Amino acid sequence: MAPEAGRREQLRANLARTREAIATACRAAGREPESVRLIVVTKTFPASDAAALVEAGQADLGENRDQEAAPKAAELARLGLEPVWHFVGQLQRNKTRSVARYAHWVHSVDRARLVDALDSAAAAHGRTVSALLQVSLDGDTSRGGVSLGELTALAERVASAGSLRLRGVMGVAPLGWEPAKAFELLAECSDAVRAVEPAASEVSAGMSGDFTAAVAAGATMVRLGRNVLGERESMA
Ligand SMILES: *Cc1c(COP(=O)(O)O)cnc(C)c1O
Repeated sequence: MAPEAGRREQLRANLARTREAIATACRAAGREPESVRLIVVTKTFPASDAAALVEAGQADLGENRDQEAAPKAAELARLGLEPVWHFVGQLQRNKTRSVARYAHWVHSVDRARLVDALDSAAAAHGRTVSALLQVSLDGDTSRGGVSLGELTALAERVASAGSLRLRGVMGVAPLGWEPAKAFELLAECSDAVRAVEPAASEVSAGMSGDFTAAVAAGATMVRLGRNVLGERESMA
């Protein structure tokens, strides 16, 4: 088998195995498998892998750096492939113009000035971007995320932005925390955001190491990279 065909086969198998693992986690939690959307995070992997995943039926892809995501999205578009792109990494205001061109979802909205910049950028492209508020569950906002105390005000700001749609919350289990405890706290944050916008019911939680706990706590989106693509080269 040509190496490229071998990689495609491997990705297909990994994808099937991962979907089955999500379904198992759903059944264990008494939930329908369709209630959880799989986002495959393709960061550090080539556009050819992302293309193979879309061709295998994977509709949602995630990236965390614009410098990598923008050319990858353009390359897939050239191939006629249009996945739903989710931007999941820390976002600088000067990148919002670029990100709003390809990203349908931004999971990392965490401060008022970013809301305003992303709203203007989406408006400039004539698009509406779905926004999730990234919450800093341990209050260490240096790693991204809004503090719990500022969550409601930020939700109100997104809800009143003309080109953003407030869709829910996103969280990452802090290092050293029991994942279940982190995702229960995120579920409380989801309640607070739904008090502002009842339709904002999405909860983006869970990575390759902890998605079972996230599904048990009510995640509606899991963001998985290594489970599907394999280990990444170490990143700076
Ligand atoms: C890389 C990344 C993921 C996926 O992590 P894996 O451990 O590869 O599953 C999920 N969410 C964010 C924000 C990421 O940066």
